[in-house]
Amino acid sequence: MKAKNLFPKTYNLTIGWLYPELMSTYGDRGNIIVLQKRCEWRNINVRIEKISPDTEYQILDTCDLFFMGGAQDTQQEIVNHDLFGKKGSALKKKIEQGTPGLFICGAYQFLGKYYKTADGKILEGLKIFPSYTENPGENVNRLIGNIIIEPNSSTYNLKPKTYIVGFENHGGRTYLEDKSMTFATVKKGSGNNGKDKTEGIMYKNSIGTYLHGPILPKNPEIADWLIEKAVEVKYGEKIELEPLDDSLEQKAKDVVVKRNS
Ligand code: GLN
Repeated sequence: MKAKNLFPKTYNLTIGWLYPELMSTYGDRGNIIVLQKRCEWRNINVRIEKISPDTEYQILDTCDLFFMGGAQDTQQEIVNHDLFGKKGSALKKKIEQGTPGLFICGAYQFLGKYYKTADGKILEGLKIFPSYTENPGENVNRLIGNIIIEPNSSTYNLKPKTYIVGFENHGGRTYLEDKSMTFATVKKGSGNNGKDKTEGIMYKNSIGTYLHGPILPKNPEIADWLIEKAVEVKYGEKIELEPLDDSLEQKAKDVVVKRNS
């Protein structure tokens, strides 16, 4: 379906998709499709810039929104090596300037201070998020299953009682240095660490979260929030996107929430 273009001018957004071949598990790619389609349906021009180990770091400067999915420890090590240095600094600069981003699972772990892998190796993080992650090893259970969270309304402007649903599968346990930065509260599932009911982080306009699923097709309101923020930061204009018919998505979400309450 195509919404009317109510904007007085044409907006052009570039989405930086970090490491599509290495960091993408449990349908993470669906998030890119949703971002692209929901822009196009509002007549916002969108370009996807795939960022891989052989991409020049300057490309990150041209991006208006970032997405990076999850991975297993082996892929994480490769990416960690590449991201350290100029690419990581470029990403940090953009996030600090308010460029919105969505970082899932392994990507979320990277942006924190460090990730201790299942076999005890310390992978330095980019130290953008005030968090750290430790994987207690293969003998301790992974945190796997469907998850329902309620966004923290003080850090994220979704209506309270808007549930977000997804799927998590991680060995790492993440701890936030300041719990008020949590993205959401866990209603069902494990979230950051299976203990303190926090889920994800909200830092400036970037979201770190454990929700695969993928998260955006299941919760399209987050995609619209990211797009609105991307336009706001790039063009200095607050816009309100034309609503789309998300009744099917909402029904699916209601079923999941009902089944688990
Ligand atoms: N390898 C990380 C962990 O197990 C991340 C997993 C993922 O991204 N799905 O915690």
